[in-house]
Amino acid sequence: MKYDYLVVGSGLYGAVFAHEAKMAGKSVLVIDKRPNIAGNIYTEDLEGIHVHKYGAHIFHTNIKKVWDYITQFAEFNRFTNSPVANYKGELYSLPFNMYTFNKMWGVVTPEEAASKIEEQKKDYILKKKAERGLSENDEFVPENLEEQAISLIGTDIYEKLIKGYTEKQWGRDCTELPSFIIKRLPVRLTFDNNYFNALYQGIPKGGYTKMIENLLDGIEVRLSTDYLENKEALDKICEKVVYTGPIDAYFGYKLGTLEYRSVRFENELLDKPNFQGNAAVNYTDKETPWTRIIEHKWFEFGKDDDGNDLPKTVISREYSSEWKPGDEPYYPVNDEKNGELYKKYKELADKEDKVIFGGRLGEYKYYDMDAVIASSLDMCEKELNK
Ligand code: FAD
Ligand code: UDP
Repeated sequence: MKYDYLVVGSGLYGAVFAHEAKMAGKSVLVIDKRPNIAGNIYTEDLEGIHVHKYGAHIFHTNIKKVWDYITQFAEFNRFTNSPVANYKGELYSLPFNMYTFNKMWGVVTPEEAASKIEEQKKDYILKKKAERGLSENDEFVPENLEEQAISLIGTDIYEKLIKGYTEKQWGRDCTELPSFIIKRLPVRLTFDNNYFNALYQGIPKGGYTKMIENLLDGIEVRLSTDYLENKEALDKICEKVVYTGPIDAYFGYKLGTLEYRSVRFENELLDKPNFQGNAAVNYTDKETPWTRIIEHKWFEFGKDDDGNDLPKTVISREYSSEWKPGDEPYYPVNDEKNGELYKKYKELADKEDKVIFGGRLGEYKYYDMDAVIASSLDMCEKELNK
C-alpha cells in the first residue's frame, strides 16, 4: 500500500492537512513521535480537569474563515483570557488597560492615564535621542524591545510588568530582543481586561485533544513513530511527505542548530478547589524563578464536562529555559541570526520536491493556532486542488 501523503506530526497543522487530504479523496497516514496526538495543544484528563500538557492554549482569531472551519470540530466555550500580573505581591490587570493604570498610578480618567504615559515616554525618548546624537525633532525609531516597550507604555510599567517577565521568558536582555515581540501586547485606555484583540475566542469544550481526534476521524495514525529514525522505510510507502517537525532536524542540523526557547512545566494536583482564582497569573519580577502559574480548571470555569464543580485543582508552574537538542522546542527565536540560518535551511527545503514543510517548527515561525490553521488550509488549496 502506498499512501498519497505521509503527515509527520499530529499537531494542528498536520491534523488539518490530513483531514483535508482525506476529504479530497487522498490516502493519508499520520505519524507522531510522541505517544499521543495533538502536538503542543494536547490536553490530558486529570481528576476531570483538561490539563494543557504543553502549555496553556487559548484559541483566538480575527479570521472568520478559520473560526468557521475549526468550530466544525469542536464547540468553544466563552472563555476570555484575562491574566493577572503579580509583581512582588502587587497584583495588576493585563493587558495594559485602565485597571492597570489606576493601580499603578492612581489615575482615574483615560486623559490622566494618557498624560502619565506620555510624560514617561517623553523623558525616555529625549534621553535616547541625545545618546544617538539626534535632535528633538528627529524621529525616534525603537531598535529593540526595551525601546519599543518604553516608547509604548512608559518606564514604570516596563520596569514592573515587562522587563523581568520578558528577560525570564527569553533568557536575554530586553535590549537584545527584537521589538516586534512586544507589539503583540495591546495597550488600552478602556476598562477592558480581554488579553486578545480578537473577534472570536474560547476553549474547545471537552479539550483540544478531542478536537484533534475529530479532525483525524477515520485517518490511520501511528504514534511513537519517529520519521527521521525511519525515514527510508517511511518514504517508500508514500508519494509525498508533509513534515511539521523542526526544519533543522530534518537536515541533520548540518548547517547548525536553530535556537528555541523551551519551557519546563512543574505540575501539581492540589486537594483544594481554588489556588489562585484565575487561569493565568504572570510573575513579572526577576526573582521568582517561574514565569507564570496556570490553574487549568478556570479555562472551563471550574466545571467538569457534565457541568459539576471540581473539588480539586491542577496548577502548572512554567519555567522558561534555553533549548538544547533533545529538549522540546517551543518558541522559535526569531532574531536576525536565526532568521539568516532559517533562510539557508529554507533554500534546502525548497529543493525537496516531495516534502512540504509546515507549521511552527517546519517553518520556524512564531505562529498562533489560528495562523497555523490558515497556513495549513492555504497549503491544502495549493496542494490538493491542483
Ligand atoms: P506542533 O503542535 O508542535 O506539532 C508538531 C508535531 O510534530 C508534534 O506532535 C511532534 O511530536 C511531531 N514531530 C516532530 N518531529 C517529528 C518526527 N521526527 N517524527 C514524528 N513526529 C514528529 N497559540 C495560540 O493560538 N494561543 C495560545 O494561547 C498559545 N499558547 C502557546 C503556549 C506555548 C507554551 C506554546 C509553545 C505555543 C503556544 N501557542 C499558542 C502556539 C501553538 O502551540 C501553535 O501555533 C500550534 O500548536 C502549532 O501547531 P503545529 O502543528 O505547527 O506544531
Ligand atoms: N509580556 C510581558 N509581561 C507579561 C506578559 C507578556 O512583558 O506579563 C511580554 C513578553 O515579552 C512576551 C510578550 O509580551 O514574550 C508576548 O506575550 P504573549 O503573552 O503574547 O506571549 P506568548 O507566551 O503567548 O507567546
